[in-house]
Amino acid sequence: MRILIKNGTVINAGGRQQADVLIDGDKIVALVGRAGEDAGVSDKAAAALLALGADETIDATGKWVIPGAIDEHTHMELPFGGTFAKDTFETGSRAAAFGGTTTIIDFAVQSKGKGLQEGLDIWMAKAEGHAVIDYAFHMIMSDVNGETLKEMDRIVDQGVSSFKLFTAYPGVFYSDDGAILRALQRSEKNGALILMHAENGIAIDVVVEENVLAGNTDPIYHGISRYPVFEGEATNRVIRLAEAAGAPIFIVHMSARDAVEAIQAARDRGTKAFGETCPQYLFLSLDDLGNGFEGAKFVCSPPLRAESGGHQEALWTALVKNDLQGVGTDHCPFDFEGQKELGRGDFRKVPNGLPGVEDRVDLMHDGGVVGGRITPARWVEIISANPAKIFGLYPRKGVVAVGADADVVVYDPNRKHTISAKTHHMDVDYSCYEGREVQGGSDVVISRGRIVVKDGEFLGKPGDGQFLKRETAHWVRKN
Ligand SMILES: [Zn+2]
Repeated sequence: MRILIKNGTVINAGGRQQADVLIDGDKIVALVGRAGEDAGVSDKAAAALLALGADETIDATGKWVIPGAIDEHTHMELPFGGTFAKDTFETGSRAAAFGGTTTIIDFAVQSKGKGLQEGLDIWMAKAEGHAVIDYAFHMIMSDVNGETLKEMDRIVDQGVSSFKLFTAYPGVFYSDDGAILRALQRSEKNGALILMHAENGIAIDVVVEENVLAGNTDPIYHGISRYPVFEGEATNRVIRLAEAAGAPIFIVHMSARDAVEAIQAARDRGTKAFGETCPQYLFLSLDDLGNGFEGAKFVCSPPLRAESGGHQEALWTALVKNDLQGVGTDHCPFDFEGQKELGRGDFRKVPNGLPGVEDRVDLMHDGGVVGGRITPARWVEIISANPAKIFGLYPRKGVVAVGADADVVVYDPNRKHTISAKTHHMDVDYSCYEGREVQGGSDVVISRGRIVVKDGEFLGKPGDGQFLKRETAHWVRKN
């Protein structure tokens, strides 16, 4: 199958060019500059390829042609608090595709007392034959011991080159400082990248208990109990441990100004510290956790922050200045009815997580590009190129270039639409952005040369998504 995308503006992290894009099979085979512009490969060979014609021609006049977006942080079917995140790899990856995302990096979980390999095998089985777009895995480490440290090397060899540890959730995922240091040391030997959920879970539990004893059991107390300083402290601590190990580190889902300040200070002294935030921390606030039990819809960890704390502006500034490199969704949807409701009368029992995999690209375009904060090229860098580089997928993914996988989105930067649970494709009964109008939308979404979404219609197939073996994290060691 040969697809020609004509008359569009190609936007990569490096800038824009007027070029036609030719796809043959699962690869991009030619970029041909127009109107005298040099697209870099507008040579005779490209012209000859073009002359062969295409099975399908897409007119992208007035549209942008961007690399398929990469969501570096999703949790399909994650077990949490006695229930499971509602989206499967099939429904979640289909929703992702509608939103212009052609790769997800999900989290395989090592259960306490079990091996890493066993956890990875379980998550492989959940995805294989079901995902409609390509997928890769990070590995959550629940136990750090001699056995699992050795096992890390074998997991890296299988293309899973990042491991997530937690300073939160004592008794479940929590790792102490010694465990974190050991994992960081090991990553320096096997080339992996350590990801951290950085909130001081032991301190948080003290305040949680105080609030529950005082009868403060509404969802908003989930947010109130998890102080920004607990995130700032843990972020600084794990970065210092990375410095001690001489290893790079990546902080996931940063929400608080205090944490941003910690990563900025680290980068200013030359530490290879990297981080992401999520749309919910850029667009929502503690106020959304109010309104009685309705606030359960917005329970996630770290929590949404008070508008008055300057958190959103600090996060945007960090994205502009590259102190943060990415925006993942932390997509982990639970229905309000029957799932979030498990926490009625006790915020500790509300499953943690929000839906978002479908909305990220448009929200970042609307708030970032239309909002005047970032350029279109920086937007592409945040949603696609940087995750590809940081997580060992570049230049196979994350760029519209000859030889790259044909993951391409024809994006309309002017089309407006209203986000709603009535029209979204995620398998969850509410939207955190209900009624919000955003500018920008994915018209055509191509995953390795197959059109999976066109003009709002799904044309993909479960099982067409492939597992991506990722390289070691060499990019973060050079940058
Ligand atoms: Zn997460």
